[in-house]
Amino acid sequence: ENHLISALRTASTGREGDVFAIIPGGENVSFGALFAGAERMASALVALGVQPGDRIMVQVDKTIEAIQLYLGTVMSGAVFLPLNTAYTGAEVAYFVDDASPALIVCDPARQAEIRSIAGAAAVETLDSAGQGTLRARANQQDGFEPVPRDSDDLAAILYTSGTTGRSKGAMLSHDNLVSNSEVLCDYWRFTSEDVLIHALPIFHTHGLFVATNVALLAGAQVVFLPGFDGDAILDAMPEATALMGVPTFYTRLLADPRLTRERAAKMRLFISGSAPLLVDTHEQWEARTGHRILERYGMTETNMSTSNPYDGERRAGTVGFPLPGVEARIMNDGAPVPAREIGVLEVRGPNVFQGYWQMPEKTAEELRADGWFITGDLARMDAEGYVAIVDREKDLIITGGFNVYPKEVESLIDDLPGVLESAVIGAPHPDFGEGVVAVVACEDPKLEPDAVISALADRLARFKQPKRVILTDALPRNTMGKVQKKALREQYQGVFD
Ligand code: ATP
Ligand code: MG
Repeated sequence: ENHLISALRTASTGREGDVFAIIPGGENVSFGALFAGAERMASALVALGVQPGDRIMVQVDKTIEAIQLYLGTVMSGAVFLPLNTAYTGAEVAYFVDDASPALIVCDPARQAEIRSIAGAAAVETLDSAGQGTLRARANQQDGFEPVPRDSDDLAAILYTSGTTGRSKGAMLSHDNLVSNSEVLCDYWRFTSEDVLIHALPIFHTHGLFVATNVALLAGAQVVFLPGFDGDAILDAMPEATALMGVPTFYTRLLADPRLTRERAAKMRLFISGSAPLLVDTHEQWEARTGHRILERYGMTETNMSTSNPYDGERRAGTVGFPLPGVEARIMNDGAPVPAREIGVLEVRGPNVFQGYWQMPEKTAEELRADGWFITGDLARMDAEGYVAIVDREKDLIITGGFNVYPKEVESLIDDLPGVLESAVIGAPHPDFGEGVVAVVACEDPKLEPDAVISALADRLARFKQPKRVILTDALPRNTMGKVQKKALREQYQGVFD
């Protein structure tokens, strides 16, 4: 059997006529139609010469056909490799060179550009309406017997978001994906009664594996939206039961007065992840809707590792407990730290990836021989076992020999009147090695940098206080709501020259 496909089909077997995807303004898609289309995609791939283990690189808009391409790729025994639709041709060229795909599927508007960098790869198209050369090929042959794949065979290579450096290809096996979605389905109580609002991109683990796999595994329905659309989400909410989002989903929805307790009355679960959710957002959401957001933590390399509990207290500012089957420890200098102290979070379990594609050295640095994966996130665990992500190790600022955790400074700045949000970074400093710089997005045009500095004076040790405050309208974020600190560090590397 094909391990992942069998798992994803089980819940809908015998219910092929039931609706899987509700497409606002379009025609609903049944489970039967979803998988029949996936089988046609698999046939088309095989007809194109795709072999088990080949990489299928996909940079297309979010459509049902793109989901069918994901499922069809896995059915054919090949490896699904989605790319962020925002990547330029030059960026795609890096991934092509790194992954040597057999086939690239792209938007027709970019076909010529992609063809020029495709090397030996074939190029097919799929557009935002799910049409294109690949779809035309996929109309030719019905039915496909999934190619047998074991638990350890690769199902996908997902590149990390590139927040801290060059993206790395995380190799994910069938069982990495199956085991994690089974645990999440259970932990978050997904059933065939659920209606999940699916507004996340499907080139990232959150929308592809967490949202799509969990919904299929549960045999639940999805309200399938091509991207974040506040109006569409609010329209869907009265008839939906769950939403998975990044923190920016929640802040944007909060800005809309139509978000009310009544509108969210039928919802049972709001999940947040991929970037830190501010305590403030958590509290505002509860005050407005009566629901406590469930925050969880994961990575491209591990799928989901920790989650706040379904029934117990969902503690704001934490990412909850290690999921069942996942071990977590917080380490410093080769030993676990005492409760409440900060160290690097390591995780181990069936969710942990098989290594970085073609980077054996990087893999050896971050994935220990005994299975522990060094996440690179600084965390602390309280006495009850709740994990809080403190910062990324790479974002830690060392100034005059002292450690400054940007998030501590950011949360104080964020509370100042007139401030929307902030990002604290280190910039090269002639005396201190690094100097603390605060980039502050403000809603009050009269806010002065000096006012920010003096407001922090008696709240923070001197070495933690920003030496420079830069005011801006908005912080640079990617589609997953992650602040692009690497870009900020590059932009402001000369402030202390
Ligand atoms: P790269 O590894 O290429 O620098 P990235 O780490 O941003 O990029 P992803 O795998 O998409 O790529 O993101 C994983 C990271 O996202 C985690 O290591 C963590 O820093 C952050 N993250 C995910 N969920 C949460 C959360 N709930 N709270 C805080 N941070 C989170
Ligand atoms: Mg990472």
